[in-house]
Amino acid sequence: MPKIVIYIAFLCLLLTTVSANNIAPKEEIKVGVYHNPPLIYSDSLQQAKGVFIDILKQIAADNNWELSFEEYHLKKGLEALYENKLDILPGIAHSKKRELRFLYSEEVIYTNWGILYKNKQSSISNISDVNGKKIGLEKGDIQAMAFKRLLDDFNFIADITWYNNSMDMISDLSENKIEAAVINKIIGHYYNNNDYIKETSIIFNPVNLHFVSTNAEIINTINTGVFKLKNESPKLYKGILEQWFVNHAKKAIPTWLKIAFTILAICILTLVLTLFFLKKIINKQDEDLKEEHKQKILNKKLINRLEIEKALILNSIEDQVVFIDPNYKLLWANAAYKNRQKEPFEQLVGKKCHKVEFNNNEPCAYCQYETSLKSKQTETHEHYNERTQRYFSTKTNPVYDSDNIPIGFVKIISDVTDKKRNEWDLIEAKEKAEQSDLLKSTFLANMSHEIRTPMNAIIGFSELLDDDFITNEEKSNYVNIIQSNGQQLLKIISDILVFSQIEAGHLQLQYSRVNVIDFLKEIYQQFKAEKLKLNNPQLDINLEINHLSHNLTIETDPIRLKQIVYNLLTNALKFTKSGQITIDAKTDNDQLLISVTDTGIGIPEDQLNNIFERFSQVENNQMKKAAGSGLGLSITKELIQLLGGTIQVTSKLKHGSKFVIIHPIKSKTDLKLEETMEQTSIN
Ligand code: ADP
Repeated sequence: MPKIVIYIAFLCLLLTTVSANNIAPKEEIKVGVYHNPPLIYSDSLQQAKGVFIDILKQIAADNNWELSFEEYHLKKGLEALYENKLDILPGIAHSKKRELRFLYSEEVIYTNWGILYKNKQSSISNISDVNGKKIGLEKGDIQAMAFKRLLDDFNFIADITWYNNSMDMISDLSENKIEAAVINKIIGHYYNNNDYIKETSIIFNPVNLHFVSTNAEIINTINTGVFKLKNESPKLYKGILEQWFVNHAKKAIPTWLKIAFTILAICILTLVLTLFFLKKIINKQDEDLKEEHKQKILNKKLINRLEIEKALILNSIEDQVVFIDPNYKLLWANAAYKNRQKEPFEQLVGKKCHKVEFNNNEPCAYCQYETSLKSKQTETHEHYNERTQRYFSTKTNPVYDSDNIPIGFVKIISDVTDKKRNEWDLIEAKEKAEQSDLLKSTFLANMSHEIRTPMNAIIGFSELLDDDFITNEEKSNYVNIIQSNGQQLLKIISDILVFSQIEAGHLQLQYSRVNVIDFLKEIYQQFKAEKLKLNNPQLDINLEINHLSHNLTIETDPIRLKQIVYNLLTNALKFTKSGQITIDAKTDNDQLLISVTDTGIGIPEDQLNNIFERFSQVENNQMKKAAGSGLGLSITKELIQLLGGTIQVTSKLKHGSKFVIIHPIKSKTDLKLEETMEQTSIN
């Protein structure tokens, strides 16, 4: 036979064996359950529990048993076992009667004994105390029978109450309906947590507990199973015992404790709920407070920011700003005010403003606070500070609270000196402009007169020349008049031209080096020749240049300088009928002083400054208003200034005048050169 067939046959046989084992029906074993915790009992779900049940379940698993449980009272259970209605009854102690009827397992599962328990009030302490007392015994309980025998042996007669189960008996004992009761060790310990029953020293009838059955095969299987469990799985066996005798005992909680726990739990729950709601309320209040606090912080921050911004804004103002209370005490000030005080402002707060500012004991005479309170508007006052020599404007603004009660005033002190000066300058400029306008009008009127007069003379005398009957002498006289008026006209036109050039800033200076003596001599000669034409023997013209060095030269525009000196000489001639006109020149340090002195009518002192103004002419009673545009001295002053010099005048009415022009001897180039040389030598 091929090997493969043998293997397949063997495999089939194996599978058949395994399946046959697996599918073999389980043997049903009926187990009686009665109330004897923790050895055996039914829990609230009618499930069989206890030490014997757990051991039996281990044996059942190994032997393909299907356990079914039926609940009985112990006595009924024994009867049911005897009648083969049950297969096993666990936790049964030996008794002669039982030994006749049942088979006991060999291995002892647990050793039990009887204990007499008493109620709290009982004074039973030994067996003799039992005599005549109400004692509870459980029907069918082997310990109850043993105790009854004990009483009989001692001829004690107790008032015995028989109970169907230990639970009712323990309940009656707790409620003092009986004084004592026989309870086996296990049940006693199970309920001994109850404060209502107490263990006495009466202990009796120690017995071993076994499984019992009427079936020898079942007893053998149990014997083998228990032996195997104890020896092969000692840990598992010990675990079962510990679970029921250690842990279970711990779990047994007395009723009073349960009630106490329940009450405590309710209290705790109530407390927790109360706390929960209180916490909720507190949390809500806390949140409200936090929100309020947050809002306060935000408000504070906002106020701080506004304060900083207010300070920044007010500190950036040049004007001094100070807040003062109704009693004139300083409260707040900006940087401008603080900076003007000698002491730090922190030390001035609360001090009176008039004391701080002016060391006055009384409010300042010009203080506007009271006035501003009456007028309910800003009051302004300007004053001059002698010490600082500056003008100040003080504005006083009354400040009211929300109830319209004055809480002080804000004083704004502004330095208005520059503003005032500008105002004055403007007024002066305006006056000058008005004066200039007036002068211009006068000038135009004068011009028409001044131009017409020589023009009329020229035209009139030119017509006379055309007359054939005039003598040569008359003819020569007319020609002189025409020439003189022509010169006068030329001078006027020339003045106007120069004036407009200066005004427009178009006047170009032509510098050259000039020998001063030669220059003055030429002017003198020319002027003297012109004077001779006037044929005035009462007037002398002098030139005094003895103090000057022959080599003295200056760098100047000779045409303009000549125009300056000539203007002065022309004026002197115009206003001097007799006496002298002297041209004088000397040096003073680096300056050349050329003066033109006359013994003419002089100029009133109050007019001395005005004569250099454009179009100005001195009103003079002594003589008819002199011919002229009023531009001569103005042009003279502008020209000498352009040449780097100045002009001065001194005069005494009816005695004459002296005009001095001061011209720099050194040129700008010389000065620059010297400066460079000096720098070089220093370095
Ligand atoms: P004008 O061309 O009208 O003379 P100026 O500007 O030269 O104008 O002179 C202005 C005024 O100053 C003259 O009108 C005159 O009243 C006065 N003045 C100038 N020089 C003399 C002088 N040497 N003596 C007296 N008055 C003088």
